[in-house]
Amino acid sequence: METNQVTLAAQLSEMGVRLADYEGKDIVSTSPVSGQVLATLRADSADQVKAKIDRAHAAFLQWRNVPAPRRGELVRLFGEELRTHKEALGKLVTLEAGKILQEGLGEVQEMIDICDFAVGLSRQLYGLTIASERPGHRMMEVWHPLGVVGVISAFNFPVAVWAWNAALAFVCGNSVTWKPSEKTPLTAVAVHALFQKALARFGSDAPAGLAELIIGDREAGSQMVNDKRVPLVSATGSTRMGRQVAQDCAIRLAKTILELGGNNAMIVAPSADLEMAVRAITFSAVGTAGQRCTTLRRLFVHDSVYDTVVPRLKKVYAGLPIGNPLQKTTLIGPLIDRAAFDGMQTALAAARAEQGQVFGGERVIVAGCEDGYYVQPALVEMPAQTNVMQHETFAPILYIVRYTDLQQAIALNNGVPQGLSSSIFTTDVREAETFMSDSGSDCGIANVNIGPSGAEIGGAFGGEKETGGGRESGSDAWKAYMRRSTNTINYSHSLPLAQSISFDI
Ligand code: NAD
Repeated sequence: METNQVTLAAQLSEMGVRLADYEGKDIVSTSPVSGQVLATLRADSADQVKAKIDRAHAAFLQWRNVPAPRRGELVRLFGEELRTHKEALGKLVTLEAGKILQEGLGEVQEMIDICDFAVGLSRQLYGLTIASERPGHRMMEVWHPLGVVGVISAFNFPVAVWAWNAALAFVCGNSVTWKPSEKTPLTAVAVHALFQKALARFGSDAPAGLAELIIGDREAGSQMVNDKRVPLVSATGSTRMGRQVAQDCAIRLAKTILELGGNNAMIVAPSADLEMAVRAITFSAVGTAGQRCTTLRRLFVHDSVYDTVVPRLKKVYAGLPIGNPLQKTTLIGPLIDRAAFDGMQTALAAARAEQGQVFGGERVIVAGCEDGYYVQPALVEMPAQTNVMQHETFAPILYIVRYTDLQQAIALNNGVPQGLSSSIFTTDVREAETFMSDSGSDCGIANVNIGPSGAEIGGAFGGEKETGGGRESGSDAWKAYMRRSTNTINYSHSLPLAQSISFDI
């Protein structure tokens, strides 16, 4: 569409992107809004990837000596650039990833929030002072930077995931190499340009190579993962990808933060505020067209309220505004591509074969966007938690199962391998506390009276049980980006007994 091209050119030039520097024949950025090609970029060769990691490593050796609060100043300046260019970057996210505009802007807001968080953190990288058992000794912990942090990101959070990692990594004294999704290279180029603006304002104590952008497909990502100068790989994407990255890193004993697929559930208990629950279910299940790691995919409704909740949901689903995500009235934009649509249809066929009753799920043709893959979100009433519900299908499918007993519902919630986020709607304090207790939800996120989707940056995000639970952004997630050194200082006049062996010296 002509208008998309005009919008794109305007967004890129506002953010200081010189597209000509990146253009080539390898990586195609296609807008899911209309199926139109936005740009074709050149992929980095293996030599170029190596050179970028070389530069990032050299940058780390300097950056680690810059005081942490000064490092925070760079992140503060970057946050200012994001505030200035929020609209342009948010629109670009919509164009390239297909999120509705409010979600595109929301993603940029998450970047701003993590910058604010990281600026404060740059003055709070605290270690403990520990009571020593030896007389005249003091013991303390000091946190040091790690080196080059390799970030791999997924198409559905094309800009925020890098920021969650990079803002922390920079204040912790690391450099960052970023391999974004091959489906969303333009948003990455734009973020890189905005970071360069912040660097230019910061001054000469930020070395060149502090942030490197690697354009390429999984091969380029794999090269970064296997480079021994990258001590930490933070990878966000499918479980299939995470498994490979985990193996590659394990071989060289590198650290990982893995943020992978989710298969998130909600329990609607008899005492739930049903009006609130229906709103939360709809938002969590259809937001971003079901393409969030925290999307609600499994709903367990108590027998006593099932026949109120499910018909109500069907009514709400029938009126969902599906369409061009650039238009203000739209709440549900497109799937990322045809493969996503095919994956959804395959899952729905499997659900039918497992005695599921499917409502919705068909393709919707949007005028002016005929080559985009828009769908009517699907509700599927299932007789039990069957095989198809064990997998994450990255599309708006909500499976619904009836339950009678809270322990049974918690077992269903926990009865899949992924377990990223979860929630319960109840006004019964005993049920709520049970759900959050040691024997409750086994997910990294367990919410009460709020859906599973989305998260504030202040908390540690992530925590899939399948991956050992990587955590990014808030709380003490910063510790994963540093190494802990324990120092013992002897201020007495003698060595402890065990070390006082006399040598003839
Ligand atoms: P994907 O796994 O296809 O790709 C993600 C990234 O990994 C891309 O940059 C890709 O090039 C790279 N990659 C793939 N294989 C690789 C390999 N062997 N070595 C190195 N890099 C490799 O995922 P996607 O389709 O872009 O994103 C959707 C998935 O991401 C969903 O499963 C979703 O749940 C998950 N996700 C998780 C979170 C989270 O925080 N838990 C957030 C967003 C998305």
